[in-house]
Amino acid sequence: MSMSCKGKCSDFRALRPKDHDGRYIVGQKRCQTCSMFLNWEGLWCPCCGYKLRTRPRSTKYKTQLTTMTNKNTEKKNLIRGESVDVFEKDSDGIMIRVGMGKLLNHIQRAGKYEIWQVELKNEICNKFILA
Ligand SMILES: [Zn+2]
Ligand SMILES: [Zn+2]
Repeated sequence: MSMSCKGKCSDFRALRPKDHDGRYIVGQKRCQTCSMFLNWEGLWCPCCGYKLRTRPRSTKYKTQLTTMTNKNTEKKNLIRGESVDVFEKDSDGIMIRVGMGKLLNHIQRAGKYEIWQVELKNEICNKFILA
């Protein structure tokens, strides 16, 4: 069976995330064969069948993900109404703690992370938190 792009991948094309968050951080995966970022739960491309890339290639992005993981290892099962540490990227792309936020609504699971709507300083925003 030949492994090549059959054009089906465009059904799963992932849009660039808002707020300049990394595509891999929000759970998107990259197919090298189809040259496309996908929203797809599986590890293999639904179009060509090749293994999808789930982690960034660049050291900068790897560092970001590691930093988030290390800082959040104590967070396990998140519960609505719970107070959590909230992180944001600074201008160098490093995750920094910006304060305590209250979890409002679960949006989605994204790899090791969960995306929650968080109330922080009376502002409601979407944040990534380690699940
Ligand atoms: Zn394809
Ligand atoms: Zn593919």
